Amino acid sequence: MKKISVIVSCYNEEKALPLFYEEMERIRKKDFREEAIEFEYLFVNDGSKDKTLEVIKNLHQQDEKVKYISFSRNFGKESAMLAGLEAATGDYITLMDADLQDPPTLLREMYDAIVVEGYDTVGTRRVSRKGEPPIRSLFARLFYKMINHMSKIEMVDGARDYRLMTRQVVDSILELKEYNRYSKGLFSYVGFQTKWIEYENIERVAGETKWSFWKLFRYAVEGITAFSTTPLILSSIIGIIFCLAAFIVILFIIVKTMVFGDPTSGWPSLACIVVFVSGVQLFSIGIIGQYLSKTYLEVKKRPIYIIKEKNTNQKIKIKEE
Ligand code: UDP
Ligand code: MG
Repeated sequence: MKKISVIVSCYNEEKALPLFYEEMERIRKKDFREEAIEFEYLFVNDGSKDKTLEVIKNLHQQDEKVKYISFSRNFGKESAMLAGLEAATGDYITLMDADLQDPPTLLREMYDAIVVEGYDTVGTRRVSRKGEPPIRSLFARLFYKMINHMSKIEMVDGARDYRLMTRQVVDSILELKEYNRYSKGLFSYVGFQTKWIEYENIERVAGETKWSFWKLFRYAVEGITAFSTTPLILSSIIGIIFCLAAFIVILFIIVKTMVFGDPTSGWPSLACIVVFVSGVQLFSIGIIGQYLSKTYLEVKKRPIYIIKEKNTNQKIKIKEE
């Protein structure tokens, strides 16, 4: 018998969770009726401040397919997804949001793509960003344009974290032990045959989004620095251009002074050069600092999450075989 693990990261989702569970069960009974396919729900409570954990425990009382992991504090969605992947025992594993923005109705189609068509993983892509602030969509588009120019790993615009993977793909992802996790990149990085399913954006059923513009901006910087070293080269190039420009200006000033003489003017040019060059230096240092801080965090080898309670058999992080 085959088993599907449904991993759901939850942060303050007390309102959305019961709706999610209901919808998911409906789909399971409707679309996965004929075959003997076992299901497991893995709710990862990412340090919610509301009654999310109680809601999950109630679901567990009703239904023993429901398992949970609860973090000691909010570690972020990336950490929650990792904890879920590590605990999942299924042959096929899917990652979903609790707010039903990742429609469970697609699950059957995704499952068939793997089992019948032979793909290793099925990803989903939003083709519209309906209901999202326009400024956010604009920056998201810009981000994907930029990162795809800079990184060899392809990032698909509009790709969600919602995907179904075979055990083999998940095991490959778990091999990547980095601290700064940018899942969209990691999924691309491991490769395998991926099918993309497209759908229109759906607004969340209850609760509100946890991503502010600033949080998304930081996530974008994370994505760029984790999967590309182009900014390092970029800063060097800009540095060189500005140095050349400064050199030309200096020559010009020297020649001008020799020909026309220069009593006390020269202040403007001097100030310009100082400002330009220090600007370039700051820019470059900032970029180097980004990479340095990443290295610093990796070197510390801190755990990616800390579990307070759970009812799963979490695999030990470092396997000794
Ligand atoms: N989430 C999480 N930890 C966080 C923030 C969000 O586990 O620190 C979960 C959240 O509960 C939801 C999913 O990640 O299931 C997506 O979050 P949200 O719907 O707020 O993001 P959006 O869909 O607006 O991008
Ligand atoms: Mg959402």
